[in-house]
Amino acid sequence: MSTAGVANGQTQVQPETALRMLNAQQQQFEKGVVQVADNVYTAVGFHGANTSMIVGTDGVIIVDTLFGPSSASKAAEAFRRYSDKPVKAIIYTHSHGDHTGGASAFVGDEKPDVFATETFGSAEGVNKAVEPVKAKRNIRQFGRNLSPSESTNRGVAPANTEDGDRGKGFLPPTVTVPSDGLKTTIAGVEIEFHNGPGETGDAMFIWLPKEKVLLAGDNFYSSFPNLYAIRGTAYRDVLSWSESVAKMATFKPDVLIPGHTMPIQGQDAATTALNDYSEAIRSVYDQTVRGINAGKGPDQLAHEVKLPEHLKDKPYLIQFYGSVPHAVRAIYAGLLGWYDGNPTTLNPLQPKLKAKKMAELAGGTQELTEQMESALAKEEFQWALELSDHVKWLDDADVKLARKVKIAALRALAAREYNAPNRNYYLSCANELESGQLSEVWF
Ligand SMILES: [Zn+2]
Repeated sequence: MSTAGVANGQTQVQPETALRMLNAQQQQFEKGVVQVADNVYTAVGFHGANTSMIVGTDGVIIVDTLFGPSSASKAAEAFRRYSDKPVKAIIYTHSHGDHTGGASAFVGDEKPDVFATETFGSAEGVNKAVEPVKAKRNIRQFGRNLSPSESTNRGVAPANTEDGDRGKGFLPPTVTVPSDGLKTTIAGVEIEFHNGPGETGDAMFIWLPKEKVLLAGDNFYSSFPNLYAIRGTAYRDVLSWSESVAKMATFKPDVLIPGHTMPIQGQDAATTALNDYSEAIRSVYDQTVRGINAGKGPDQLAHEVKLPEHLKDKPYLIQFYGSVPHAVRAIYAGLLGWYDGNPTTLNPLQPKLKAKKMAELAGGTQELTEQMESALAKEEFQWALELSDHVKWLDDADVKLARKVKIAALRALAAREYNAPNRNYYLSCANELESGQLSEVWF
């Protein structure tokens, strides 16, 4: 591996390896209906998330409803091949749009109960004031504007989803699940609702005691979890996430149905996956807290904290979607805010002045520019990016060249990334830079 890979996070590999890994991950959301029990079906790959149907005596229960009616109606149609009983209940595991927006597509004239937690809707936590920039970052993270040849996938979802009718089929909740949970029978199916904050504070998981099926929502999917989303999110309560998953493991399910990606079948496999997942989150949290208390800052910890050896190669913990270094930074900021405790960073030099000092240190603008180009040539892509960010501030520099170097370095990093959000973000920014769209923040 080149020094670039070592220096730049944990998800950089050779380009052909990155592509091979992402292509293999694609099997986790290949479109189809999976029957996981006599009366339980999960539709995978109809949009980004999963939707499930539980068949009862005189009706069915739908758990999560995809993003909008167009994707949901295709899943509903696929379900009808197995049962055309009326919908008695709809359950939202949490309030993210990819789980709630298509509910109406499953329902005819019947009026099903719609179940959600007490805190339903408090999920997002990002202030509306920053919506303009959040929207841009969302497009980059999911690679929504990438060309077909640049697209791979979104880590736990396919690259291309029908998004035009976002939320159009949302049906508001009619039954509130209390904070200590709920056990009931719907259409003859015994069903338990358990609050399980994690990715969102309003999350719950569903347990079918007779079928021994557990529907986890987005607190579990086949990838290291997205403890922080680079599109921009408020702090996700990492410790609660780990605890919620540990609680799920105590049910020892025969089948684990994730919010995204393929169900895991078999009591051993499902229980082990949940225990490993919980341990992985907890380990990243604990390592970060230990580092914080040893006085280390986020830049150092993001490189030091790793998944434990016995967990890092588990198929459901590969960092296709979530990233350990990003999780570490999120935990740091979530617990202590932006300040790393080092007085040097209380008032750092303004970027332009720092760039001038860097140029002086290098022997002049020309020499700094040469260092930038040489970093790219030596495949030290992260260093090339950092130098290009200095060069662009200098009045006497060739800023077009700096931009070219930045674009090339971003594409090179993207090619080596198997973390889908990173890959999509690098590529999207390279395209934006090339088209001049980033001019307000970069050139
Ligand atoms: Zn989701």
